[in-house]
Amino acid sequence: MTNVLTDRSTSCKAVYGPVESWRFGYSLGVDPIGAISTCSFNCAYCQLGNIQHHTQQRQVFVPTEQILQELAALAPIPDLNVVTLSGSGEPTLALNLDKILTGLRQQIPCPIVVLTNATLLGTAGVQADLESVDLVVVKLDAVSADHLQRVNRPCSDIDFDTILAGICSFAASHRGKWALQTMMLAPWSEAERSRYIQLVQELNPAEVQLNIPRRPRVLERRLDARGNHVVVEEPDVLRSLNCISNATVREFAQEIEAQTNSWVRYPV
Ligand code: SF4
Repeated sequence: MTNVLTDRSTSCKAVYGPVESWRFGYSLGVDPIGAISTCSFNCAYCQLGNIQHHTQQRQVFVPTEQILQELAALAPIPDLNVVTLSGSGEPTLALNLDKILTGLRQQIPCPIVVLTNATLLGTAGVQADLESVDLVVVKLDAVSADHLQRVNRPCSDIDFDTILAGICSFAASHRGKWALQTMMLAPWSEAERSRYIQLVQELNPAEVQLNIPRRPRVLERRLDARGNHVVVEEPDVLRSLNCISNATVREFAQEIEAQTNSWVRYPV
């Protein structure tokens, strides 16, 4: 019988798009995770649906050769702004991340962006893998342990303090550009906003990206959600999310910019 967590057969393309992204422009997606959604979080807003493999164990999910062959078949791609590693889960879980990045740089002359949920950022191996990336976008959706449980629902042995320590360690040692990315769901209290601003002051990212979910949450696995462009119409697989307004995000962005050195980007 097929094991759903180990059958990562290559029917699923690892390279997808390009898609238009409000943050990155015309972006080619590279998915080092593959057919089974795999992440150390199971975020309340995740557009991949409920995460199928909830783990913080690094392993090779998609062979490097498969990814590089798919890239070679597409190159050159005119007008491309970036290549983004994200896809079907947490890209730093891929043990071959470094090899994928090396091959990518040889094949596509374009800035590389990696989106990470920060759960492995404190490890030396992941920090080394990310050293040559043009932009690392680090998720921080919560400002406390309780907040983390409500929004990100991590694997049981991941806690808020460890994630924060990992981000601090990364911020102190990373020589390239990095951004803090925050998805805001229900309204934040004044204490939560103050704590967040304090963290931005301490971490000093080049940029803060605030976001709100633009769609109800898909509950079932949707491969086409990798490019963040999924349009799902079946109401039984959707869950509405309690979101704040664009105006509230804009006010918070202005508050952050006034009190930190970081530039803030948010959807208009
Ligand atoms: S970190 Fe990203 S991939 Fe993982 S559950 Fe959250 S939104 Fe989904």
